[in-house]
Amino acid sequence: MPTVGSKLRHLAASESSLARQVRAALVSTLYTSPGSLAIGAIAGSVTAACIAYVSGSLALLICSIAIHLVGVLRIASAIIYLRSEHGDSAREQLYWERIYEVGAWLYASLLGAQAFLTLTQSSETVLLLMATIMATGYSAGVAARNAGRPIIAIGQLCLGTLPMALGLFVMGTPLSITLGLCVIIFVFGMVDIGLQIYEVVYSALSGKQEKSEVAARFEKMARSDMLTGLDNRLAMQMRLSELLDTVEEEHDEKLTVIWMDLDHFKTINDTLGHLAGDKVLIVTAQRVKAVLGNRGWLARFGGDEFVIMARVASTEEAHLLGVEILESISQPVSINENTVEVAASLGIAVSPDHGRQSEIMLKNADIALYHAKNEGGKSVRLFEPFMHEDFLMHRKIESGLNDALANGEFTVLFQPIIDLETGRTKSCEALLRWNHPELGDVSPAVFIPVAESAGLIGEITQWVMRKACEAAAEWPENINVSVNISPALLKRNNLPVTIIETLVNTGMVARRLELEITESVLLDKSPHTNSLLRQLQKMGLRLCLDDFGTGFSSLTYLRSWEFDTIKIDKSFIRNIANSPTDQKIIGAVVQLAKSLDVATVAEGVETEEQLKRVRDAGCSRVQGFYYARPMTAAQAKQRLAHEGLPSDDDRKIANLS
Ligand code: C2E
Ligand code: CA
Ligand code: CA
Repeated sequence: MPTVGSKLRHLAASESSLARQVRAALVSTLYTSPGSLAIGAIAGSVTAACIAYVSGSLALLICSIAIHLVGVLRIASAIIYLRSEHGDSAREQLYWERIYEVGAWLYASLLGAQAFLTLTQSSETVLLLMATIMATGYSAGVAARNAGRPIIAIGQLCLGTLPMALGLFVMGTPLSITLGLCVIIFVFGMVDIGLQIYEVVYSALSGKQEKSEVAARFEKMARSDMLTGLDNRLAMQMRLSELLDTVEEEHDEKLTVIWMDLDHFKTINDTLGHLAGDKVLIVTAQRVKAVLGNRGWLARFGGDEFVIMARVASTEEAHLLGVEILESISQPVSINENTVEVAASLGIAVSPDHGRQSEIMLKNADIALYHAKNEGGKSVRLFEPFMHEDFLMHRKIESGLNDALANGEFTVLFQPIIDLETGRTKSCEALLRWNHPELGDVSPAVFIPVAESAGLIGEITQWVMRKACEAAAEWPENINVSVNISPALLKRNNLPVTIIETLVNTGMVARRLELEITESVLLDKSPHTNSLLRQLQKMGLRLCLDDFGTGFSSLTYLRSWEFDTIKIDKSFIRNIANSPTDQKIIGAVVQLAKSLDVATVAEGVETEEQLKRVRDAGCSRVQGFYYARPMTAAQAKQRLAHEGLPSDDDRKIANLS
């Protein structure tokens, strides 16, 4: 069992580490019952006055006046404490604690002195009783009352009773000495009781304190994003509802919600790692915050998505804010030795113009964001009502695509590509068709981009490739099949594996499979795309540069890449009859291709006139409605079988082998 001494040592050690709030609560216990303070003061003053008057001693008179004065001052200080708006700062606590301490110790000393003087100067039994009972009773009372600040309580106890014990020793009778000793033992007992009460009060208060601190911490955690320290989704939604409720429409006040999504964030994460991704998010948050200042609020919605809310005077101001934010974040971020380009797409909705409820505002900002993304990123779009229809369509297509394969809604058609020299089919392009149960035929130009963004393009391409290879396996061996490869697929590593699997499963040779890729793939010059294309070429596959002329600096690709074929885009062929410039361009491209031993396909030839022009320009092949529309696998098989016997060239080759 701990002794009084060890408890005192523990107390001294724990004093310095006392939490500020706990200490404040303990100090307040000193002042909480001014009534008991007043009772003590009144009883003290009355007994002191009686003792001074009856004894006629000057010393006791001075003592009585002092007791009176100190009592009044203490009550006054308690009233001031309770009325004042004191904070719980450490300085203020110490100040009030000291005030109380001085008053308490002074008062106890005066009662102790009074007991000593009475015991040593008077022989009146009633006076002796009055002085000793007052000192003892007071000391016992404060030991409990002020246990919240044990140093004060122990001081009061000692100062009030020890002079009395001294007085008893001075009296010198065996009985008084015995009583004096009992008083000292009593002091020990009371100190122990006081410390025990302190323990109980202390642990109750600090337990309460801890609980409220934990609750506050949890609340903060639940409302903020750990990485950036910004408001999280939950806090953002609550704030948005509050802000929308307080928009003062009559003063032409508006509230804008800007939904921002970083462009290519996944690539940053995948190539440089999650720590780099985290750094980009943190820096972006700091930049947006710097632009906003106290103009608005920023929250992280999750992933690489942020939501900005701001009071604005007009839609134009909201748009300008969006542009300002985009400019501020579109600066490179350096991570270790790397420099990462950051950009974002922003969708803006403005209340009340685009909605008054938080869900609607968020949805409309998201729809505007979707349009900003569709523009290729790094752009700011303001919500417009027509966007809603587009968005619903996108959703419908996206959800429909999820089941299209399983439900057998896809088919592959084949469009022949004719060799102008022989007039025969050289290869067929596989073109995907989708018959949606509600929407009917949906153009691949519409659903392919959706499949790309929904991450479904891999699965779909694999299916198309299998169908294409299965079909081509039934055609004459000199006829190739070409499959369109979406740029999104070339960013993945598993494309060669998928192709090999398909070739093995369908028994097709690699040389007969041609991959059509668009120029945009080569634009980003990523080393990954480069090595993947080389790998595909090494596997023996043919590469075709599709939609040639729609990208930039097209001719340079021809030099750096060994394409087997280039397809001149439909848009050039459409104009060929009435645009001498287009005809010249085609002529130049064809000459260059010939010098590099690359075949040229004129795509979208619909009329005899167009055919004549592309032939004159020197194109080696044509594809278009003039010769054939895309057809089913069965139709293609039949057409190819009917194209007749092998040509003279083929026979020559056959004889040679
Ligand atoms: P593309 O690769 O340029 O395909 C040629 C498009 O031109 C096809 O449209 C074809 O039907 C059309 N076409 C052919 N001859 C003529 C003509 O004489 N006049 C006109 N006006 N058009 C002609 P389609 O089938 O609607 O495909 C559109 C685009 O969808 C394709 O353009 C291609 O980029 C994409 N696509 C189609 N199937 C697939 C696929 O399986 N995978 C991927 N990734 N994309 C595909
Ligand atoms: Ca194509
Ligand atoms: Ca094309």
